[in-house]
Amino acid sequence: MKIQFLGAAGEVTGSRHAVEVNLAGKTRHFMVDYGMFQGGRKATNKNLEPLPFSPKELDFVILTHAHIDHSGLLPRLCAQGFNGPIYCTSATYELLKILLLDSAHLQRADVERAERKQKAGKWRGEMPVALYSREGVEMTLTQFEVVEYGQQIELMPGIHLEFRNAGHMLGSAIAVIDVAEDGSQSKRYVFSGAILG
Ligand SMILES: [Zn+2]
Repeated sequence: MKIQFLGAAGEVTGSRHAVEVNLAGKTRHFMVDYGMFQGGRKATNKNLEPLPFSPKELDFVILTHAHIDHSGLLPRLCAQGFNGPIYCTSATYELLKILLLDSAHLQRADVERAERKQKAGKWRGEMPVALYSREGVEMTLTQFEVVEYGQQIELMPGIHLEFRNAGHMLGSAIAVIDVAEDGSQSKRYVFSGAILG
């Protein structure tokens, strides 16, 4: 197994972990969390950076909780071609219906405000960018699959997932992932997400 920390490393937002495993002679790719970098234009540029892999190659995404710094770039990933399942708890899914739509709305409002100011000659610096639209969020919401705490499910032969209550926010989970890679014993990987408050 290879794990690459694409965000929330040396900083707090943009939590994204890319995992690569070998199963039945194939390399499989999945992500744990897919968060947005937050904090002005610098963060926006990071959100726009190309990925070190093709979103089409991803088999699935596991989401630990609904906060935007862990989930906020999912609509962008789906718009870039990821069409697999996104696993999370039912409470996380219910919250995301609100949070992701709100995120799209805020991005659009920022762009519209900047455009108005620009027309009036009152805007300096780079224009804000909307990373995705409401329609993009609606598409993304169709890709979720709900897994409840304590329910162990097989995501594909050789990979099992169980969520445990992380106590960080409503629906937040610690992801316990058992992987039986080719030629080795099953190993357990635990992604804590965010714990407590
Ligand atoms: Zn959080």
